[in-house]
Amino acid sequence: SHLGPVELGAIVEDALSLLDHRFDEEGVELDLALPKESKLQVLAEPVRLEQVAVNLIANALDAVAGREVRRVSIRAWAEGTKGFLLVGDSGPGIAPGDLDSIFDPFFTTKSAGSGLGLGLSISYNIIKDFNGTISVKDTGPTGTRFLVSLDEAHR
Ligand code: ADP
Ligand code: MG
Repeated sequence: SHLGPVELGAIVEDALSLLDHRFDEEGVELDLALPKESKLQVLAEPVRLEQVAVNLIANALDAVAGREVRRVSIRAWAEGTKGFLLVGDSGPGIAPGDLDSIFDPFFTTKSAGSGLGLGLSISYNIIKDFNGTISVKDTGPTGTRFLVSLDEAHR
């Protein structure tokens, strides 16, 4: 298989290092809870898993832009035979009518130039290729949480 053990916490840290400047410049609070070093390995490919993390965190940052409360929360943990990644934000939520479309290629509610509408569709395909799942765990007027689940890798 093309899949191998990948340290989920390290992937999140790498994704965050690419987006650090946005947290600073846009005044967004980060609430981060990652497992202790090397404690959570999932079956994936590192570069593509990082792409998913970057997409989800960038969407969370976009969602809180211009809001009074600007908070992004990221958690990773193991449960049963799975590893989970939760990316939450204090944004305005996803309109009920959009929920069925957000994973479609080129679906975006962002103004021209700021969103191509490909991030979630690419992320969906990557996670599917990893035999995992990605979904909106909950969304409403005070925020949205995306949940990714992957098989845990056992050494
Ligand atoms: P893009 O970010 O380029 O618009 P995505 O595929 O990443 O494309 O997301 C598609 C759409 O899903 C977004 O335009 C937005 O409407 C919605 N969306 C994604 N993440 C969030 C979020 N955290 N909060 C609110 N809406 C979201
Ligand atoms: Mg996006």
